[in-house]
Amino acid sequence: QANERESMYLVSEFAQKYFVETLWETEPGKAIGLTYFKERGFSDATIKKFGLGYSLDQWEAFTKAALEKSYQLEFLDKTGLTIVKEQTDGTSKKFDRFKGRVMFPIHSMSGRVLGFGGRILTNDKKAAKYLNSPESEIYHKSKVLYGIYFAKQAIAKEDNCYLVEGYTDVIQMHQKGVENVVSSSGTSLTPEQIRLINRLTKNITVLFDGDAAGLRASLRGIDLILEQGMNVKVCTFPEGEDPDSFAKNNTYEDLALYLEENAKDFIQFKTSLLAQEAANDPIKRADTIRDIVNSISKIPDRIKKEVYIQECAKLLQISEEVLYNTLAQIDKKDR
Ligand code: ATP
Ligand code: MN
Ligand code: MN
Ligand code: MN
Repeated sequence: QANERESMYLVSEFAQKYFVETLWETEPGKAIGLTYFKERGFSDATIKKFGLGYSLDQWEAFTKAALEKSYQLEFLDKTGLTIVKEQTDGTSKKFDRFKGRVMFPIHSMSGRVLGFGGRILTNDKKAAKYLNSPESEIYHKSKVLYGIYFAKQAIAKEDNCYLVEGYTDVIQMHQKGVENVVSSSGTSLTPEQIRLINRLTKNITVLFDGDAAGLRASLRGIDLILEQGMNVKVCTFPEGEDPDSFAKNNTYEDLALYLEENAKDFIQFKTSLLAQEAANDPIKRADTIRDIVNSISKIPDRIKKEVYIQECAKLLQISEEVLYNTLAQIDKKDR
């Protein structure tokens, strides 16, 4: 329903402005929120550009402000900005979802606010570090990439897109001067998200946090990028660092050089990584070979496929024939 969606956009836009105003113009906003962003190294200009904000540590400060401005509770509820709990006596209790968090608005390709990510400021291990708007009529998290509105021109111009894990990675790299960067914000990459990038460039470089935790799991998601005929590179960061911390602690030149020197072709990277792990284990080695050929099978372009088979035969010290046979088996199974 167009009207309902429009009302949800309007309430999101109000929330966005309210959180920005709270950040810059209230005592807690300045003392807590702004101080936090500055400690992370974000400049005033960056904070303003990305529309970062603060949500007061009060149960319904935002909700009250919105209702006073005649925004309807229905749409506060539907966007998830307000959590509405029906009571047994027929009344309802209302809470601000993002109570006490710094706010990252999530924009569409054309710059409309679709939802928010909110980061907690305490070290409370029981509470989620990041909280996101729930799935709604206007916020489909599988179809959104954080930062795309600010990155789209640079992605087209550089003919490459950096894909990072989090909000702060996007913002910090952008501030350092690498503007062609977006994030899937912690969720695994979806075909719709890849399609958004595919419209702007055929080249993706995936940047992994240097915590190795998600690395193996994420490798599989990358096959989805190959399936769309895109060229994929990957780049890892030193242990304990992520693109945010690296960009914060280095100059633009160091960052650009690091990316240039450490971005490796995805198939080569995966092959080297898995080959190392399986070096002395014949059974694991067989699985590895199938895994890699499976990735290669996703590449639509036949010539590229051949080049990779030749390359991987060398890296794995195995005949091309075995790899071609494996490829044929996989192709037959998929048909
Ligand atoms: P920060 O530097 O602020 O601590 P980060 O961006 O480095 O955070 P990671 O732990 O690397 O955070 O996680 C990457 C992304 O995953 C986050 O930016 C966020 O979008 C998402 N994420 C992380 N933790 C949570 C969580 N507890 N709940 C939901 N999403 C999360
Ligand atoms: Mn991480
Ligand atoms: Mn991180
Ligand atoms: Mn981080």
